[in-house]
Amino acid sequence: MLDIRWKAGLFIGALSTICIFLWLITSSVIALIIFSLALLVYLASHIYWLHQLQSWLKTPVLQEIPEGSGLWEDVYTALLRYERNNHLKQTELNSALERFNITANAIPDGLVLLGAANEIEWCTKHAENQLGLNLATDQNLPIVNLIRNSHFIAYLYNGNFIEPFKLKHCRNSEAILEIFLIPLASKQKLLISRDVTQIEKTDAMRRDFIANVSHELRTPLTVVGGFIETLSDMEGAIPESIRSYFNMMQDQTTRMRRLIEDLLTLSQIESNTQPPEDMAIEMSALINMMLNDAKALSQGNHKISAEIAPNLDVIGAFDELQSALSNLVSNAIRYTPKGGEVHIRWQLRKDQAVFSVRDNGIGIEQQHIDRLTERFYRVDRGRSRETGGTGLGLSIVKHILTRHQAKLEIVSEVGVGSTFSAVFPKARTLQKQTIGL
Ligand code: ADP
Repeated sequence: MLDIRWKAGLFIGALSTICIFLWLITSSVIALIIFSLALLVYLASHIYWLHQLQSWLKTPVLQEIPEGSGLWEDVYTALLRYERNNHLKQTELNSALERFNITANAIPDGLVLLGAANEIEWCTKHAENQLGLNLATDQNLPIVNLIRNSHFIAYLYNGNFIEPFKLKHCRNSEAILEIFLIPLASKQKLLISRDVTQIEKTDAMRRDFIANVSHELRTPLTVVGGFIETLSDMEGAIPESIRSYFNMMQDQTTRMRRLIEDLLTLSQIESNTQPPEDMAIEMSALINMMLNDAKALSQGNHKISAEIAPNLDVIGAFDELQSALSNLVSNAIRYTPKGGEVHIRWQLRKDQAVFSVRDNGIGIEQQHIDRLTERFYRVDRGRSRETGGTGLGLSIVKHILTRHQAKLEIVSEVGVGSTFSAVFPKARTLQKQTIGL
């Protein structure tokens, strides 16, 4: 096929040749008139086809592309080919999008795509149902305008999405959702809402069962323990030959009582859906109290020291934090052989208050570290029992810290020692102003 420029050149060339020929055989006037008339017709045909193109572009329907003639036939053929390709790609894209939508809507979890300003870009039917959204009307609206739960808003802006967030189902007050937020590279976020009602129910049943069993066991155990203690204290009541058995019975009942107390504490914390009863805790006083308890537990067998940042406090529930932090201190003493050192530090690290306990005790192998906060996980069962452990201490610590949006960091090396740190978020860190005189 000839190039458009060649075709136009050929037309002008042929017209000029005819007109020169006419000039030679007739006159220059006739030749010029015919040349002008031919050019006018040529121009008019271009204007006509240009107008046709303009009209088609207003509502470009593939089947209605003008056919054109001459140069314009080539232009319209190229346009038709281009439009056909485009149409094909568009159809493929639409069918891929449709398949994606069908697949996404088949996922039982709700999916919401959030833009850089947390506005809703897209969501699935399950997300609409679970979170009370409507893509048709809510697209491009900030999600905080639609999910007006203040804790969810704080979670969204906090930027720490390691733990999922629990939210009530918007259309079924009995149902509980777990919200996961996954930041994407393009500053967008993917929000996943999962209905965990059944899991929560089973979990609640398990917690209730443990709490009930512990309660039921507490009374008979107290009675048995009491009798053993009374008999042990009564002169002549127990023949010397079996006194060692009585001592063993006493040790075991004490252990069981401790276990039950820890189980009750754990199930109480786990089932407590209320946020902690916040107050400003004066940490220097609390740490000094813990130092005294630690010295009593150590019975002079360890060198115990503390370094307390002045004017640094924390906001939280006093009893819960006292229990969690003293657990870390008592562990350090229990897992550090005689003559070892335990150092407590309360300091500010990048706007976050950190309570850490460092010991130069037995240390922990790396493979155990991630599992230490699981219930009853113990590196060395024998040693834990020997030192009066229940295997629930760190589990309780983790739950209490999670309730305070704090993290437990563990660094340890076998034979060198361990450092357990409770890292509090900026929002719970309290820096008191010192007024200069
Ligand atoms: P336990 O009552 O057995 O001490 P915890 O939940 O408090 O239970 O701790 C779990 C396990 O973590 C312990 O059994 C012990 O193996 C390990 N552990 C905790 N603290 C320390 C520490 N300071 N040094 C070495 N090991 C530790």
